Amino acid sequence: MALIVPLRREYDVLGLRGQFPALQRRINGRALTYLDNGASAQQPAAVIEAVSDYSRNHHSNVHRGVHTLSQEATALFEGARGKVRGFINAASDREIVFVRGTTEAINLVAGTLGRSRLQPGDEVVISWLEHHANIVPWQMLCEQAGAQLRVVPMDRRGVVDFDAYRALLGPRTKIVALAHVSNALGTVLPIREFIAEARARGIATVVDGAQAVPHQRIDVQALGCDFYAFSGHKMYGPTGIGVLYAREAVLATLPPWQGGGDMILTVSFTRTTWNSLPWRFEAGTPNIAGAVGLGAAIDWLGQVGMEAIAAHEADLLAFATERLATIPGLTIIGTAPDKASLVSFTVDGVHPHDLGTVLDAEGVAVRTGHHCAMPVMEFFDVPATTRASFALYNTRAEIEILHAALTRAIGMLR
Ligand code: PLP
Repeated sequence: MALIVPLRREYDVLGLRGQFPALQRRINGRALTYLDNGASAQQPAAVIEAVSDYSRNHHSNVHRGVHTLSQEATALFEGARGKVRGFINAASDREIVFVRGTTEAINLVAGTLGRSRLQPGDEVVISWLEHHANIVPWQMLCEQAGAQLRVVPMDRRGVVDFDAYRALLGPRTKIVALAHVSNALGTVLPIREFIAEARARGIATVVDGAQAVPHQRIDVQALGCDFYAFSGHKMYGPTGIGVLYAREAVLATLPPWQGGGDMILTVSFTRTTWNSLPWRFEAGTPNIAGAVGLGAAIDWLGQVGMEAIAAHEADLLAFATERLATIPGLTIIGTAPDKASLVSFTVDGVHPHDLGTVLDAEGVAVRTGHHCAMPVMEFFDVPATTRASFALYNTRAEIEILHAALTRAIGMLR
């Protein structure tokens, strides 16, 4: 019997790198080694050019104009919405709300679903590894509503305790809000299972997908969540644009959030009526150029292929984990079996900020600090970590550069 070997498209990482102008820079006399993708990924020329073309040729306000430029801007803006819908397999464009980013998306849910549904004594469940964007809005909401924030524990690997989660869900739980992927540890939550548990109990589910969307194919219908939030700048798009996916059946029941132009149908001094979905949740002039750039990023990612990206990044993660573990005194923080492509670590006797500064002198960009996840730092009893986060354009050679620069920096700083 003939063995059929599926053809694998060659992953041309150097060709991909060549499409990123920022990656051609030299920093302090060295080729830039950009390993801060968890904070913001660089933008390919296709994205930069789409934004530039919009600004040069089509810029105008959307929705309200009959003139050509306004119609072109509207078509580009709404076209981007359609691209987002396809990218995450939402059922309808009505489920895609453009926002500034993940932070704004979660605040929108807290300010609408939360404020309308939460009664004193109700509970909101989050996990220990959340980014501040998925802690503080819920904390503020709970304070206003007289509700309680409940936190699912994790273990020393950074794995969120599923049994403890199930035990926390009760008749007073109204909202579950969880990261899909931790930005500080890299942990990938089996989010589908977490969502299913909440759904079975009629609890609303909110997923912070900021760190998941750049690394794996997302299908919101398969996940079954009510809300899924992410940011353009972490997926090779511009800053200031992000997405709140909201299941239409839920979004349609929410009160409006911000008031103003575009979110209304009619306004009089006695009565205002609301626009249809999703515009009801998009008051004021949106970030049109940002949406166009995000749409271009989605097209571009589609050409590269999310599965190919995931495979490449899995290789980078395995290689980086192996190489960094050889450095004496280096401890990797976050060792979950399922991780996204980032490595957070501490080095005995060396402060992360000093390390980050010395690495920058060698052209290596990493992030140091608490990564907007102070409870994670507290849990591991460290003030901060150094984080190298990898993207589709990083290479094993860059991990070797990081390794060598780290070895020199530690020698210098100890
Ligand atoms: N959630 C996670 C897991 C993140 O990593 C980030 C950004 O670092 C955010 C939320 C906030 O995203 P933004 O600053 O784009 O709103």
